[in-house]
Amino acid sequence: MAGCLFCKIIKGEIPSFKLFESDRTFAFLDINPLSKGHALVIPKFHGAKLTDIPDDQLSEILPVVKKLAAATGATNYNVLQNNGRIAHQVVDHVHFHMIPKPNEEQGLGVGWPQQATDMDALKALCEEIKAKM
Ligand code: AMP
Ligand code: ZN
Repeated sequence: MAGCLFCKIIKGEIPSFKLFESDRTFAFLDINPLSKGHALVIPKFHGAKLTDIPDDQLSEILPVVKKLAAATGATNYNVLQNNGRIAHQVVDHVHFHMIPKPNEEQGLGVGWPQQATDMDALKALCEEIKAKM
């Protein structure tokens, strides 16, 4: 898509530190890493959110994330994929972060605001979501 930063990186119009490329998938180092080895894996198919990408364009993503996790030697790491501004998405081309977590200070910091619920509410929600899948 014209104007998309990551589409330009795929085309080589903007330089990147490329780690992997196939017909469907591209991976490169994040330019503002949260830790050493922080990398991004993207489908070549342009779409802003995960739900915009066809299944067949996603099938290599996790295997490549896994290869990168192994290649960096990280024993602790997070895999992150943000969708929408309020969910911290800045670049509107789907991307999966592989972020080594070498210590408490570096890597991803996560807020985890657990909500109170109960078994009846969870059961009803489970049925509601399943019915739409
Ligand atoms: P997100 O907040 O999930 O949209 O993450 C976007 C990521 O893209 C950030 O971690 C940025 O550091 C990274 N980023 C932005 N521009 C570039 C670039 N030109 N090359 C590599 N990574 C980039
Ligand atoms: Zn794009």
